Amino acid sequence: MRALLYPDFESLEVTEQPKPMPAVGEVLVKVAACGLCGSELESYKSRSPRRKPPLVFGHEFCGTIESVGPDGDASTIGRPVVVNALIPCGQCVRCARGEEHLCADRQVFGMHRPGAFAEYVVAPSHVLLDWPDGMAAEAACLAEPLGNGVHMTGLTAGRARETVLVIGAGPIGLMAQQAFAALVGSRVWVADLDANRLEVATRLGAHGVVCSRTDDLVETIRRETGGEGVDLVIDAVGAGITKRQSLEACRPGGAVVWIGLHEDGMDLDSFQVTLPERTVHGTYAARLDDLRVALELMQSGRVDVTSWPTRYSLGDGVEAFNRMLHPGPEDFKAIIMP
Ligand SMILES: [Zn+2]
Ligand SMILES: [Zn+2]
Repeated sequence: MRALLYPDFESLEVTEQPKPMPAVGEVLVKVAACGLCGSELESYKSRSPRRKPPLVFGHEFCGTIESVGPDGDASTIGRPVVVNALIPCGQCVRCARGEEHLCADRQVFGMHRPGAFAEYVVAPSHVLLDWPDGMAAEAACLAEPLGNGVHMTGLTAGRARETVLVIGAGPIGLMAQQAFAALVGSRVWVADLDANRLEVATRLGAHGVVCSRTDDLVETIRRETGGEGVDLVIDAVGAGITKRQSLEACRPGGAVVWIGLHEDGMDLDSFQVTLPERTVHGTYAARLDDLRVALELMQSGRVDVTSWPTRYSLGDGVEAFNRMLHPGPEDFKAIIMP
């Protein structure tokens, strides 16, 4: 089969690979579409030890069951499926608590096992969902990143979320923006350095946008919220500066959610948390149930995940990576369709 291989640091090639065989509890999925995630671009750029070559990337995908493992149910062959990016062990205390996305023994496609930038990929049958009838592959494959947004609405349930600021109008920011608008009814502001991305955010229904290149983000948000700041801030960038901004743009008693992974260490004025009683949530990935909700959102047409990504064939996979590593004005997200 053909696959987009990451044979060594700083290289990628479309090459022939042996077609994998599903083991017990697994199925072979013929990949229909797979999104290119920002975390993979970061790993590639930084030679991250979390994703060590040789490897095939790709964890946002859908396809059809081509064959099943030795114990498998052959009647499922041909079933269209959406696959979660991570595979929990199902045995540990965290899995037992229902926090399977935090499982200590979790595996991620394109990190601990081959990913889906390939014609075929092996997946355990317990991480599959039905790919809804009539949904385009380029939408269904994005259930996982939209699921990240859905997951954040769950994490912050019970809090005031009338006004929300999303920092970073990349794919995860745009997914979070739409999840909060559709599921919570929040008024969502979106901030970014790039005017093209903000145009997309506006088209997707942002209540307001702030270009942090030209305007002071914190000042603008405070001004537009009666001097207080918003109820909830989502930092989808994760730089030191955006984490500080997330606290400053958040009203006293409000909460911030950190999902971006741009930078680890940072300086923080901790009294910005203590004295105004702000809450800081970390968030990571999504549960299978979050993907289920994401698929319902797409099915009902309440979110738009297809008008802004760009589709590439597997043969153009290297180009897709290169374009997203040095994105032009129209490069928001790449989807590879084998
Ligand atoms: Zn991802
Ligand atoms: Zn576990």
